[in-house]
Amino acid sequence: MSSERASEEIKSRLDIVDVIGGHVRLTRAGREWKGLCPFHTEHTPSFYVSPEKQLWNCQGCHEGGDIFDFVELIDHTDFRGALEELAKRAGVDLTQDRPQSAAELRRRRRREALLQLNQLAVDYYHHVLLKSPAGQQGRSFLDTRGVTEQDRERFKLGYAPLGTTQDNLVRFLRQRKAEPADVAASGLARNDRGRLTDFFRQRLVVPIRDEQGRSVGFGGRAIGEGVPKYLNTRGGASLFDKSNVLFGLDLAREAIHKEHRAVLMEGYFDVIGAHRVGIANAVSTSGTALTDAQVRLLRRFSDEVILCFDGDSAGQTAAGKAVGLVAQAGMNCRLLSLPQGQDPDDLARSDPGALRKLVDQAPPAWEALVDGALGEASPRSGGESQEALRRAIKVLERIPEASIRALYAERVGRRLGVDAARILRDVERGGPKQPTKSGGAGLSQAPSGEIAMGASAHLLGMLCHSPELVTEVRDQFQVRRDDFLDPQYGELYAAMAEVAPARLSAADLAPELRVRLDELPKGGFPELDENAGAARRTRSLGDYVRRIRIETLENQAAGITRQLGELGHHREGEGPQLMAELDRKRRQIEALRRSGGMEA
Ligand SMILES: [Zn+2]
Repeated sequence: MSSERASEEIKSRLDIVDVIGGHVRLTRAGREWKGLCPFHTEHTPSFYVSPEKQLWNCQGCHEGGDIFDFVELIDHTDFRGALEELAKRAGVDLTQDRPQSAAELRRRRRREALLQLNQLAVDYYHHVLLKSPAGQQGRSFLDTRGVTEQDRERFKLGYAPLGTTQDNLVRFLRQRKAEPADVAASGLARNDRGRLTDFFRQRLVVPIRDEQGRSVGFGGRAIGEGVPKYLNTRGGASLFDKSNVLFGLDLAREAIHKEHRAVLMEGYFDVIGAHRVGIANAVSTSGTALTDAQVRLLRRFSDEVILCFDGDSAGQTAAGKAVGLVAQAGMNCRLLSLPQGQDPDDLARSDPGALRKLVDQAPPAWEALVDGALGEASPRSGGESQEALRRAIKVLERIPEASIRALYAERVGRRLGVDAARILRDVERGGPKQPTKSGGAGLSQAPSGEIAMGASAHLLGMLCHSPELVTEVRDQFQVRRDDFLDPQYGELYAAMAEVAPARLSAADLAPELRVRLDELPKGGFPELDENAGAARRTRSLGDYVRRIRIETLENQAAGITRQLGELGHHREGEGPQLMAELDRKRRQIEALRRSGGMEA
């Protein structure tokens, strides 16, 4: 059967609402279905599926198409991959299909080979851990951490031996007829002056599987003195993109779906411990800050995230950031506080009942953050309550929905004996700006400060990922350093625009910029997929440029409004000039919104 006939056959057998409904929670909207777009971050649904036309589209990011386009994007695959996936589902036989292009074949062969190598490595490491004398150190380590045999099996934990020739795994793979080029590309080996040696040595290894259960990489924990303590698979060609996977999701997805919520933790052993004590909806990042792509991944399965991070200050800072990201994705967020100095893994061992109870009773995240900011302050605590109010306002500023912000302003007001309306006024003056309601433009869902920061980070991340886009952004979209609201992002961009990011050496940057560079998203750019096409790439770039500009202009407009409000009698003369300036900013914002089709 030709792929054209096959795709027609598949379309006739499958309903687009079922296919997409497996990934996105859809609700009926007249003759269509709608939901939150899985391809960009949004609060209110602009993603529509039409059962009549068997098409979908998103009015926010302008993606759209048929079921094949959807599967290509959501599974990060090409048309061929989508065809095979859907053919399986529809029970359509593709064996008579046309030959594929050479490049397509090569790519698929490499991917298949890497998946296979990873699986071989999982088996090898697992065998060493369970059976080999060389795995003794790993077994003792797991014993002291209370990791049971069932855990070792469920997560297919393994041990990478030191090995006198340092190439135990490499030799194992070669015996299984692996191509040296594939082994080198897999991230499982390092090239030691022309000789391949094992990447992981004397480490406990934790396979990291994608949501479908395929091993795409490993996290390795040093046993003994090894540095760094944690090490993840690396390598450009490897399958592992740590910003795009969540550890444990393959095991947890069903529980997440059933319980309508996921528990997000910080470490592999936290998740292993949680599953052991029956918290089957627990997942974690690979020891890195939560990314937008990971939040979207979770959103495919549920609408609530419970953050369960370490009780130390680093854990709490990370949790605070994660709350913003989850809220921006329009998901409910709860925040669990562990006793100071404890991590979930400790608690799972010492008092599993307490951990389960903390998860069940985790308060809404904003409530936890507001209460944390208030501390012990009361109306009578004077200077202390002023400080508490300032901290609380900082939290309120980050809440994207006005109604929820008002709710917590009430809470702060009651605690400190301050009028909630005044608190809200301070929040609006100092915080990220809500767009002014001019002409009823539909930007009430507009990027708040943090979302636009997300847009800046996304754009810069794309430029690092694909340096050849820098000239397009600089020359065609005329992006300048000042277009970025965050001056450090502006500086990073300027550095990229002067030197191509490929040649941009982190060593040349100031330390604080290096940190920012490091925090940029490293993946999750469906628009840069080699099958996505130039038009889509340009559209997406334009969209991000527009978003960061709108945000910067809104910030400036709010600054002018603030100045206008503060004009004293002796400076009244400046009023008209400021008004004109404000007017100009507003017109620019409107024009940008219209050009992006963002109007209501
Ligand atoms: Zn979208």
